[in-house]
Amino acid sequence: MKIARFTNDLLSIPEDEPLANAPERPGAMRPVVALRIETSDGIEGIGLTFYGGALSRALHEAVDALTTLIIGDDPLRPEAIAAKLRAAAGGCEPGGIFTLAAAAIDLALWDIKGKHAGLPIWKLLGGARATVPTYASGALRRGLTHDQAATAAARLKASGFTEMKMQLALPGNPTVTDEITRARAIRAAIGPDIRLMCDINQRWRPEQAIDIGRRIEDVGLFWLEDVTAADDFAGIARINDALATPIAGGEYLWGVTPHRHAIEARAVDYVMIDLVRAGGVTPWLKIAGMADAFNLPVVSHVIPEFHCQLIGAIPNGLTVEYMPWMLKLFTATPSVAGGAITLPEAAGWGLTFDQAALEHFRLA
Ligand SMILES: [Mg+2]
Repeated sequence: MKIARFTNDLLSIPEDEPLANAPERPGAMRPVVALRIETSDGIEGIGLTFYGGALSRALHEAVDALTTLIIGDDPLRPEAIAAKLRAAAGGCEPGGIFTLAAAAIDLALWDIKGKHAGLPIWKLLGGARATVPTYASGALRRGLTHDQAATAAARLKASGFTEMKMQLALPGNPTVTDEITRARAIRAAIGPDIRLMCDINQRWRPEQAIDIGRRIEDVGLFWLEDVTAADDFAGIARINDALATPIAGGEYLWGVTPHRHAIEARAVDYVMIDLVRAGGVTPWLKIAGMADAFNLPVVSHVIPEFHCQLIGAIPNGLTVEYMPWMLKLFTATPSVAGGAITLPEAAGWGLTFDQAALEHFRLA
């Protein structure tokens, strides 16, 4: 079996917020690159990538250039293809557009491997659990008012979510009281038994994280995420030492090696892996194995329709971030019920791009 041809679409899709219908920026759009690789046996593997922002046309071009290089190659050898792509990129990796583009290709190769084997990805890679916990994300953003966020949180609970994530480091020039008020308002809206995570998105200084983090410890956060600059591992470790609240992080790291440094610094209690910034399934599994060796659970970042299978595959998968950015691109995605996702039995990712959606959202 050889890689025969590919289709690569640059899309622009709405940044809506379907979980609680509380969009932070109504009308905003998100660029996405959707890749389909077809084999000589007629198997189609799908992948996608994003985070290109204003450089998304360059990302689309990079996916084109790299996928062209592997026409004729064996799609069942993602490590060999990754090595070939790295060598071809002339030293511009790791990180950035190269890694984002390589991720789309790697996702499509694993889809082909799953379909070739007749197995869903989660069974192909370990099959630890058929059902995975998931948490609602993206509905409790910092741009909302306290009342809007509390209302959205109650809506998430009413819809069956048992875990959800809010944000602090509020916009503007918030006082410490503003931050504490937001955390308490959301906790009051959902009661004590919902797992509540909180994302800072690197916006606090370490001393701020320690100060505010201590003052909200009675809110009972399940984790505090990206508390300061993502590569300040010593700073994050200092915050972690000072707080009883567990610390999550890793979504901003590229490839495998920076996760090693974060883990060695004992910065994080939960290793968050982003499938796209990691560079695809192949490196994702290496990070997850490393976390397991350090007795650390793994949590996923965005694209739950892909990530649910990886969290279900590994023994140390904790929960899946349900951030439904891409759902409208597929004919169907795994459904959420009672705060959990039942993993698909269909081969590969079990996902099919909705052709009408691709045409509707296509830029190039
Ligand atoms: Mg985050």
